Amino acid sequence: MSSDVFINNAWLPGADGEFDVVDPSTGEAIRAVSNGGVSDATAAVDAAATALKSWRRVAPRERGEILRRTFELMIRDRDELGALIAAENGKSLTDAKGEVTYSAEFFRWFAEEGVRMGGDYGSAPAGGTRTLVTHHPVGVAALVTPWNFPAAMAARKIAPALAAGCTVVLKPASETPLTAFAIARLMVEAGLPEGVVNIVPSSSAGKIVGAWMEDARVRKISFTGSTAIGQVLLKQAADRVVNSSMELGGNAPFIVTEDADIDAAVEGAMVAKFRGGGQACTAANRLYVHADVAEEFTAKLGAKVEALTVGPAAEGSDIGPLINAKAVDSTHALLAGAIEAGARIAHQAPVPADSKGFWFAPTVLSNVPADAEIVHEEIFGPIAPIVTWTTDEEVIGYANDTEMGLAAYVYAGELQRGLRLGEAIEAGMVGVNRGLVSDPAAPFGGMKQSGIGREGARAGLEEFQETQYLSVAWPD
Ligand code: NAP
Repeated sequence: MSSDVFINNAWLPGADGEFDVVDPSTGEAIRAVSNGGVSDATAAVDAAATALKSWRRVAPRERGEILRRTFELMIRDRDELGALIAAENGKSLTDAKGEVTYSAEFFRWFAEEGVRMGGDYGSAPAGGTRTLVTHHPVGVAALVTPWNFPAAMAARKIAPALAAGCTVVLKPASETPLTAFAIARLMVEAGLPEGVVNIVPSSSAGKIVGAWMEDARVRKISFTGSTAIGQVLLKQAADRVVNSSMELGGNAPFIVTEDADIDAAVEGAMVAKFRGGGQACTAANRLYVHADVAEEFTAKLGAKVEALTVGPAAEGSDIGPLINAKAVDSTHALLAGAIEAGARIAHQAPVPADSKGFWFAPTVLSNVPADAEIVHEEIFGPIAPIVTWTTDEEVIGYANDTEMGLAAYVYAGELQRGLRLGEAIEAGMVGVNRGLVSDPAAPFGGMKQSGIGREGARAGLEEFQETQYLSVAWPD
């Protein structure tokens, strides 16, 4: 029997038996994982609520040292962690190791940011009062993470929560819980006190997270995942007015102007579209290329896509499988719909033929109508649909014709035009002549239905704080 429920720094069996974690490149189980139940969810909050009493009073520097050591340990174990991410998620070793570095940097950033929690001190305009503004940890925080970045999404929540003085209960995605366990082990090595981080893996997410949402001791929900589940959680949060941070779905436009450096735009598109096989919330979902350069861009992008090696991470491939069979089916359905709407497969990479893995061929689509379903749905797979345009007004209209507003990318020859287009797009993050926007020091998050709140930067810490002011009589 496995022991993967992590409470008070102890590894325990789950109340509901076990479930399998599968390697998406073989379809075979990697190992059985403990299936947490409601009693485990409650025990995790018991531990977090008890630990909160002391953790919130630990000196910020001391909390920061634990985060800093976690950063160092993650970098020490970068290769092992990368291999683990690749095994349970399927992404290439290059992408997986890159994710480890990115994740570790959140621990370093919040180790530094947590010791600079300022307040404010001022006098009331009418006189006779001093106002002291201070910040408290919000309390026990429930963290829920997706499978596409098993390390980064956990790090981006755990590090600021702990820096702010919160304790946490985490439910990792059922497809990829092993990476969260590995991070917890490193945190114990870094000096994590009991009860500060607790993890309940489960194949019944609603049961575990539902129990937390009803528990009066849980004061915060920080969720990363689909907009549909975010909406469910926001409704549950309304019942107890739970402080909510939501990192939800995306539908990023990738715009290329006629005066852009086409080679640079192609490089950027390879990163923005094909990193992690397109299974990123920031993934370029629709490529809007000016009609004058569409042929050149499509040919150059296509040549790079055809050269991609698709296969298991362990073989050193550029791109791995999709996460599961359902993802393969839904991506095929979007491709079929696009072709029916008039799109053409311009370029494709070959995929392993004789394997039970969840393969999907990286594809470049040309002649895509602007109203095709594929540009309105989050693809979450390696398809690059190219739509052409001729005026800036037209492409801004296309870019904003969505309820999503997470990331966007603009490649323009003239920087001011790139900035103007960027500012006109309703998205929380815009890469200008870059295909990557993620940075622990920048406020990551979305507009419209892509989310509420920000992770990383100073803002990421504030998501786990309550602001309080003391109004002090100050007679003249
Ligand atoms: P998902 O289905 O919404 O799952 C996310 C997490 O929520 C998982 O841990 C899942 O558990 C859990 N969950 C499922 N049903 C739940 C329920 N009823 N109550 C509480 N929790 C529940 O999303 P996904 O397919 O894993 O991830 C892909 C989505 O995440 C995409 O839309 C992507 O854009 C988005 N995403 C956003 C960001 C961002 O920063 N904005 C980053 C990464 C991904 P199980 O694993 O057990 O189902």
